Amino acid sequence: MSLSIKNPIAEVGRLDPPTRLLCGPGPGNAHPRVHAAMSIPQIGHMDPAFLDIVEDLKKLLRYAWQTENVFTIPVSGTGSAAWEAAVANVTSPGDIHLTCVSGYFGERHCDMASRYGADVRRIEKPWGEVFTLDEIKKAVAEHKPQVLWICYAETSTGARQPLDGIADVCHANNCLFMLDTVTAIGGVPLFLDKSGVDICYAGTQKCLSCPPGVAPLTIGPRALKKMEDRAAKGEKVANWYLDMTMIQKYIVAPEGAPRVYHHTAPISMVYAMREALTLIAEEGLENCWKRHQETAEYFWGLIEAAGMEMLIPNKEHRLPSLHTVKVPQGIDAGKVVKHMREKFQIEIGGGLGAQLSGKVWRIGLMGYNSRKEVALTIVAALKDALV
Ligand code: PLP
Repeated sequence: MSLSIKNPIAEVGRLDPPTRLLCGPGPGNAHPRVHAAMSIPQIGHMDPAFLDIVEDLKKLLRYAWQTENVFTIPVSGTGSAAWEAAVANVTSPGDIHLTCVSGYFGERHCDMASRYGADVRRIEKPWGEVFTLDEIKKAVAEHKPQVLWICYAETSTGARQPLDGIADVCHANNCLFMLDTVTAIGGVPLFLDKSGVDICYAGTQKCLSCPPGVAPLTIGPRALKKMEDRAAKGEKVANWYLDMTMIQKYIVAPEGAPRVYHHTAPISMVYAMREALTLIAEEGLENCWKRHQETAEYFWGLIEAAGMEMLIPNKEHRLPSLHTVKVPQGIDAGKVVKHMREKFQIEIGGGLGAQLSGKVWRIGLMGYNSRKEVALTIVAALKDALV
């Protein structure tokens, strides 16, 4: 039989992407050592040597998150996969998810949780603002949720949500505290256990300097208890691929217990994340946080000196990883993004969602790109685009 789809090789040629400085909302440029780790020839995902690599990764991830949770793992997929794993595993149909919405990702949580049968209740703040503890207290008292979701680092706005006291409010009301740390891990001070977080996920492609494809997830004792209670009632996790009751038999089996196949681990991505977390441990977590903060302050100074303004006035509520710069009046935000890409091979992001589209640029100085010379380059290119 002859082929009905003709060979496209003459048309597509060889893979040849441009080289860019990635300073948008993510992914950022991965560290060269992470790229090198991805090119190491793979071994099998059931090989004891691979399982040892995963154990090392888990230790490094606990350090990056400052948690003792045994269930701290890489999930196959991007940050949204780890997020969906968090939701799918602790949500029984009818559970109330109190969702703190002050940006694009709060909206996504409402959508995601509703797909697992949650009764989604929202509290809202204008995009870019953060919630006060009193507002959270009031909402918990009113809605009596089983899960409270909040974003520590809202990538759509650049806002950093204070976490103090939230866990106490949740735990006094028998509610799980679920936290999004996608744009925070490795770049913004984060003490998961001290903050009383019950279930948390992150991404690799921001402050971890690793390409997307595998994502951190950690599940604390209260959330594990909820999972066990659901299993005891015969309630199946409504997502086969992300069912942690099955995946734990592969990835968190007690010492000496046989490892059970669930799906093929993305081996090269695990190498990449292992190397990215190694880099953080080598630098020291506090030094990493300090570097992000210092780069951020340097960047904010340059932006102000160039006559531009940050979206978030209060520096304490600004992320040191992702920066929202207001688009000056009369400037076409999209044209500037295009100019940066075409003239300088630099990627920055535009505003996300109806509230900020065309009004801000989102500039990520994350992980490997959290360096003063990168900040200087971005501002110089921005100025060039504005003249
Ligand atoms: N949460 C936040 C705050 C994010 O910024 C992102 C991605 O940018 C996600 C979740 C989703 O992660 P991913 O795009 O890796 O699936």
